[in-house]
Formats: sequence, structure tokens, C-alpha cells
Amino acid sequence: MHECTDKLMNPFRYLFGPVPSRRYGRSLGVDLTVPKTCTLNCRFCQLGPTPQTTVTRSEAPPIDAVIGELRQWLTTGQPADFITASGSGEPTLHLRFGDLFRFVRAETPCRSLLLSNGSLFTLPEVRRDAALADVVKVSLHAWDQASFERVVRPHPSLRFGAILEGYLAFRQQFTGRLDLEVFIIPGINDTDGQAQRIAELAQSFKPDAITLNTAVRPPADSGITACPPGRLRALAALFGPAAHEGGTEPATAPVELTEPALIALVSRHPVSVRALAANFRTSETGMRSVLEPLARQHRLRLFSSQGTLFAGPPDTGAEEQQA
Ligand code: SF4
Repeated sequence: MHECTDKLMNPFRYLFGPVPSRRYGRSLGVDLTVPKTCTLNCRFCQLGPTPQTTVTRSEAPPIDAVIGELRQWLTTGQPADFITASGSGEPTLHLRFGDLFRFVRAETPCRSLLLSNGSLFTLPEVRRDAALADVVKVSLHAWDQASFERVVRPHPSLRFGAILEGYLAFRQQFTGRLDLEVFIIPGINDTDGQAQRIAELAQSFKPDAITLNTAVRPPADSGITACPPGRLRALAALFGPAAHEGGTEPATAPVELTEPALIALVSRHPVSVRALAANFRTSETGMRSVLEPLARQHRLRLFSSQGTLFAGPPDTGAEEQQA
């Protein structure tokens, strides 16, 4: 994509959102891995397949450029509850991700959030820098090495047991809130027995909250289906009182519907038109009337997946919506 087109979509290269989130309020995303760079190639990834998994950490993009954009964003006066390291891959692959949390604490009124797949929590230096965030969310979708490989197709060097040991060590040193995401895939990890095994492992490092999610956006593996809401609720009960099933609707204050706000919201991840309508407190028909001209200008893409209409960045791989 040409840079000038990119700037039309979103004035920032490394920032996206703020994205409304039920659990974290309004979250400004900071992408430390552009383009997608990840240790895993999860079947359910909404960003499409990982071109090549890696565990090599790097200093790209330059952290000074990322923080420079954040300083610029702060001058816009937009509200955000969290500034979140997330985006197009695994943020702990960035050697200086801790600098982002230092900046948020020292120079912004926001809290900081790390969304990580947890695979590099085996490294003491990653645990040390993750502990600079106010809230850390890691993931656990498997119960042994074989199920780990089936669900997330990891880099060959990654060992499930070592990651769990990393979580235990992190829990001992981290005084902030530790959240856990469990992604449920029908036919792979959705039996009572499988969920029970994951729940027992989760209890060993005592997350403060556990969210069970399932495919609500187009996944990397088109064979993945969503776990029905009732079944997801039943599985969440196996994880104890700290667990709940994930929701798709935002629970934040209304946001003014402007083109920049809309484009920033869908500049990294596809969002269903229904969720966008809920976010901007408008009807789905009204939302479509705003989205369709932007799609014709190639500033976003409208597409359908499994019967749901989504808006996403123009390069999202899926069938075009024939409206
Ligand atoms: S879901 Fe997250 S951890 Fe999994 S491949 Fe996608 S970016 Fe990586």
C-alpha cells in the first residue's frame, strides 16, 4: 500500500482506535509489530495467517517514532482509558516495549495494558518489562504441547510447559491486574474435559479475571466456527467465579460518529457493522450509509464472513460484500 493512501486511512502509523472494549473501556492501540510479526500462527487469528513465526526480538519499529506519535495523539485531546500494546502481532517481540509503559505512566493520564500471547514470558527480561504495565492479559487455549501446537501452530522452539512456568514466575513478581483469555474452538478445545484441564492450569497462576472468547470475526483458518453462546457460558462456569464469556458489544460512552473516528477504529482489525452501530449509537442501516461511500473510496473494506457484515482495513482478506 502506498504511504499516501495509508495516511488517508489513519493519520498515525503505529496507533489505532481508540477501540471500545467491554472490559477495558476506551483503548488506544499501539502497534509495535507492523506488519504482522508473531511467535504463533493461531487458527483463530483475525489478522490472517502469520507469514512466518519468529521468536527473534527486534527494535523495529523505532520506539522513539512510536512515542512521538503518542505525544502527537495526546494533543488531540481525545479520551482514552487505556493505552494498549497490541496490534498486528506479539508486542513482546519488540525489545523496548517496556519503554511504552514507562512513557504512559510518566506522561499520560491513561493506564497501560499489555495484550500478549504470553509465549515469551519464558524470558526474565520480558517478564520484567511486562510488569511495568498496569494490566497484563495473556492467553491459554491448550493443556499440553500437542494441543498447544494444534490451536496456535507456534514457532518450533516454543514449549508449552516453559510458558506456564513463565506465567507462574510472572504472577509472583507482578502486583498489577493479570487477566487471561481462553479462546474456545469447537472440535478442538470445547469438551468439558478439555476446558477443565485448561481451567486447572489457569488456577495455578491465579489470574484476576478470565475471559472465554470464540470466533466473532473472520479467523485465519476458515474452517473455524464459533462456539454457541450457551455452550461458552457453560464452559466459563468450569473456570470459576473469575471467569465470564466475552461479549462483542462495547460498553462505553457514545462516541461521536466522524470519519476519522470510524477509520481509526477499523484500521487494524475488522469490526462487525452491528458492533460499529452499537458503538456510535446508530442503526445498522445508518452505519452502512456511512461505510459504503468510504468503501468505494478504498478507505476501508466492507466484506461478509459467515453471514456477518464487517468493516476492516482495505487489505483484509475475505469475500467482498455485494451490497
Ligand atoms: S491471535 Fe494474536 S498471538 Fe495468535 S497469531 Fe494472531 S496476533 Fe499472533
